[in-house]
Amino acid sequence: MFKLNDNYLKLPGSYLFSTIGRKVNAYSAANPDKKIIRLGIGDVTQPLAPVVIQALHHAVDEMGKAETFRGYSPDLGYEFLRNAIAENDYRARGCNISADEIFVSDGAKSDSGNIQEIFSLDNRIAVCDPVYPVYVDSNVMAGRTGNYDGNTEIWSNVIYMPCTAANNFAPELPKETPDLIYLCFPNNPTGATVTKAQLQEWVDYANKVGAVIIFDAAYEAYISEADVPHSIYECEGARTCAIELHSFSKNAGFTGVRLGYTVIPKDLKCGDVALHSLWARRHGTKYNGAPYIVQRAGEAVYSEEGKAQLKKQVAYYMNNASYIYNGLKEAGFTVSGGVNAPYIWLQTPKGMTSWEFFDYLLENVNVVGTPGSGFGPSGEGYFRLTAFGSYENTVEAVDRIKTLKL
Ligand code: PLP
Repeated sequence: MFKLNDNYLKLPGSYLFSTIGRKVNAYSAANPDKKIIRLGIGDVTQPLAPVVIQALHHAVDEMGKAETFRGYSPDLGYEFLRNAIAENDYRARGCNISADEIFVSDGAKSDSGNIQEIFSLDNRIAVCDPVYPVYVDSNVMAGRTGNYDGNTEIWSNVIYMPCTAANNFAPELPKETPDLIYLCFPNNPTGATVTKAQLQEWVDYANKVGAVIIFDAAYEAYISEADVPHSIYECEGARTCAIELHSFSKNAGFTGVRLGYTVIPKDLKCGDVALHSLWARRHGTKYNGAPYIVQRAGEAVYSEEGKAQLKKQVAYYMNNASYIYNGLKEAGFTVSGGVNAPYIWLQTPKGMTSWEFFDYLLENVNVVGTPGSGFGPSGEGYFRLTAFGSYENTVEAVDRIKTLKL
């Protein structure tokens, strides 16, 4: 008789967004006349930029002709895209990363979930709390739980680093020593960032204790302040301790198109073994590459026209972010984020729990956000709103929230 991977059974019942979906659907079925505004899930709403559409059309036409048809893509991605990434995301920023250290993928979710596979199950991981749920869940699925005591949220192999108002939502170096450290800045869900000097402390720490930092830069395009690093490789010594994850979802609206990449510098080693070679082995065995047409669309993101069009798209969302931030502040909420990230993190009023506030907003003003507790214990008492809606919906949602007598 077969057996299950019972690590899956140790995970809490359902993924955050399915619970939200269920609650919203139930409310909407009972109240069909209400217009619900969703500022919950971090999905984009603006259409793809014209330059991306052109590149997609062109690549589709190429696929229709024998002379230009492409089959399987190279394991690690097409040179044209890896060169564009290396040039624009790294060399132009003074970071020493070459095209052959870049692994093209179908997005940062897969990579952030899969990267743990190349590490031993004995490794202890450190995560920010609150945190993008994939980091912890993928480690639990793999069995990196430590002594499981039946608590479906706290794992002895996971070191939680609280990010609260007291530390400006930036973690402190942990007291216990981790082997893998997940950092995501600008952060989902808090919208917080760290300065280059703060990130340098993490790089120095990781090199000192022999840990690997998995740095998720999915929201890098939203950085507006000068001293916030766009890449961990802006820090000295990061080549020997850091892996970086990138997504085309938030900077170019590819949530439905699917494209991302991971950087593993060849200097990152465990003894004599380069992590690059393990990830290349894993990629070659389990992945057959992002579609050619999508990689061409990704290349277009780096053209001059592409950069200009996407700058406008990011500005559109950030205009929403400042509307939410300022509107809620005026209404008396304690808010943060929204300056270098498309997320606004607010304290729930009147001591409500995150889920109580979720229900309160849904029922009273028909606005959907994300309960902070869904991202970890320190997210309790907080709530996330995203700037990814349309401007009109964002304004209406904030104006409705302002009418609440709290
Ligand atoms: N990393 C973080 C921190 C995210 O918030 C998200 C998506 O919301 C992702 C990764 C996933 O990105 P992708 O769409 O490239 O899979």
